[in-house]
Amino acid sequence: MLEVRGLRAGYGGTEVLRGIDLAVGAGEIVAVLGANGVGKTTLNKVLSGLVPAAAGEIRFEDRPIARASAAAIVEAGLIHVPEGRKIFPNLSVRENLVLGSYRRGRARRGANLERVFALFPRLKERARQAAGTLSGGEQQMLAIGRGLMAEPRLLILDEPSLGLSPLLVEEMFALVKDLNREGLPIMLVEQNVVQSLDLASRAYILENGTVALSGAASALAADPALRRAYLGL
Ligand code: ATP
Repeated sequence: MLEVRGLRAGYGGTEVLRGIDLAVGAGEIVAVLGANGVGKTTLNKVLSGLVPAAAGEIRFEDRPIARASAAAIVEAGLIHVPEGRKIFPNLSVRENLVLGSYRRGRARRGANLERVFALFPRLKERARQAAGTLSGGEQQMLAIGRGLMAEPRLLILDEPSLGLSPLLVEEMFALVKDLNREGLPIMLVEQNVVQSLDLASRAYILENGTVALSGAASALAADPALRRAYLGL
């Protein structure tokens, strides 16, 4: 579905991504893991057309998108749920969701809204409430719900567990699993190594703007070097 080759990008003279290769196949959950500041958010922004690629190739469903606009990438169905949720606090929950279907999914907006409300009953109860008054966990649900409104062909989740309590993290990861079971491929960008490896089929570990390790999530979870570096074991 998504194929990235030799991707380089950065800001001004600073290179953040120094040649990234990765792929997400149909039906997969792929984790992209790494410590703070390693370039995970930059990678997502390049994939979404928000930061330009300096070099390399990005193909989505066999179409080159490295130089496509953010709008065209959304229209193709590559939907990014950003880190920090980026909801509109003064708009209602429902209005935030409806904005998700601005460029894609407009024809089935009503049905998609019902589906999101079925998935997140708490959002339905709070549909008229200003989004800024939601709890952190509810705002994260709203951000994912808004992404689903655009009928993603591939969903990129940027640190969905950030700032959530352990119980809510579990809920969030269970939701990711459910969405994937319905056939949605997901790229899960996380710092939460243990739970992400548990959920994903494959994973990439970023270090220094490159892929330091990759492979089956179960194999990575057992890798002694990774356990030392990321799990303190
Ligand atoms: P985190 O998990 O903390 O969000 P990350 O892996 O997502 O980290 P990025 O946000 O991609 O990391 O940042 C990678 C590097 O790029 C950092 O050194 C950061 O300071 C730098 N950077 C990010 N955004 C900009 C920007 N707009 N201008 C200049 N440098 C930036």
